[in-house]
Amino acid sequence: MRAVDVIAKKRDGGRLTKEEIAFFVDGYTRGTIPDYQAAAWLMAVLLKGMTWEETTDLTMAMVASGRTLSLGAVAPVVADKHSTGGVGDKTTLVVGPLVAAAGLPVAKMSGRGLGFTGGTLDKLESIPGFRVDLSVEQFLAQVARVGLVVAGQSAELAPADGKLYALRDVTATVPSIPLIASSIMSKKIAAGADVIVLDVKVGSGAFMKTLESARELARLMVQVGRGVGRRVLAVLTNMDQPLGDAVGNALEVKEAIDTLWGRGPQDFDEHCRVLAAHMLVLGGRAGSAADAAAMVAEALASGRARRKFAEFVEAQGGDVRVVESPEAVLPRAPYVAAVGAPRGGYIREIDAERVGLATVTLGAGRERKGEPVDPRVGVVLHRKVGARVEAGEPLFTVHAADEGSWQAAAQQVLGAYAWSDEPVAPPPLVFEVIE
Ligand code: URA
Repeated sequence: MRAVDVIAKKRDGGRLTKEEIAFFVDGYTRGTIPDYQAAAWLMAVLLKGMTWEETTDLTMAMVASGRTLSLGAVAPVVADKHSTGGVGDKTTLVVGPLVAAAGLPVAKMSGRGLGFTGGTLDKLESIPGFRVDLSVEQFLAQVARVGLVVAGQSAELAPADGKLYALRDVTATVPSIPLIASSIMSKKIAAGADVIVLDVKVGSGAFMKTLESARELARLMVQVGRGVGRRVLAVLTNMDQPLGDAVGNALEVKEAIDTLWGRGPQDFDEHCRVLAAHMLVLGGRAGSAADAAAMVAEALASGRARRKFAEFVEAQGGDVRVVESPEAVLPRAPYVAAVGAPRGGYIREIDAERVGLATVTLGAGRERKGEPVDPRVGVVLHRKVGARVEAGEPLFTVHAADEGSWQAAAQQVLGAYAWSDEPVAPPPLVFEVIE
């Protein structure tokens, strides 16, 4: 087989066989197929697409490039969740403890923030001492002992994805639905969970800007996962405005802890309950959606989810006092001030992407892989879409390292707002569920 023939077949819109895909992925991972041929192939896939069978073959070829975890030895059923990335998305910090406290172990490998979207690892690292660089053995031992682990993506799992993703990043081939689906699902499948709930974000603060594209991605990921025997479901959720009130690493950790104490923002609290309930039903812990909702409510109200979070923080070396006194333990920005509403009226829109970019200006996010982030900085919104606001009323607070970045971010966030003189209905949180 020759790489050039596989490229030409896809260029002409042909369907690749399992053998052709495996040959290409294996050759690229081992270095016998060079970057320039892989780049041409990725562009052909982006332009001509792939069927779900091809996407499944691509996913499984990437899984085969590395180690696969078998979680069956540590617990009969283990769950994972994955968000396609958003602004203010600290869901894992609440859903993980909720689901684990309800008796379903959660083992998750996460990523870092890039561009306007945040990353769970950066958020967790704002807890002093918290370690995300666990070995595979430590990862497995913690699922067995605590029932909850969140660590960095192991380079031993799906290494082909790491190499292909880096090439996609510099060849304008990231936004291809089959390439995104296989990239995400290869890592999820290799990480071994039986139950996978995908939170596919739609809107200005998400990869997928339209419901149609998000639906296509979600369907493909569910089909691929189910095709290889995993229980997978996708929830399409709204990312037109930031999720919850806080955007920025330590600020989001505090908001997640507040939510575990039962005093989180209503939209974020609801979002976490919905995802946790889906995980419990899919994982067979709850017989129905109503049972799952009751289990989630009980785990929150009894404090069991909060105690599970504390156990998890302690297991990964973090300062567990953060649960009782987040403000005393988390790093705080030196320059904090609120911004008043420039006018009265109803908030029609808070563009999540612009808010995310403002937090990058502050230093909470990164423009390029590997850059450090400032855990202290970010934005806290005081009113969300649909609220009626008086002129001058505090609209949001900017937490900055200095006055210059405060000014720049405050202007950016103000520009994210759109106003109406007529009442505006609060937007839906969940658009649909794909099973
Ligand atoms: N996240 C991934 O892991 N892969 C993609 O291709 C896009 C988002």
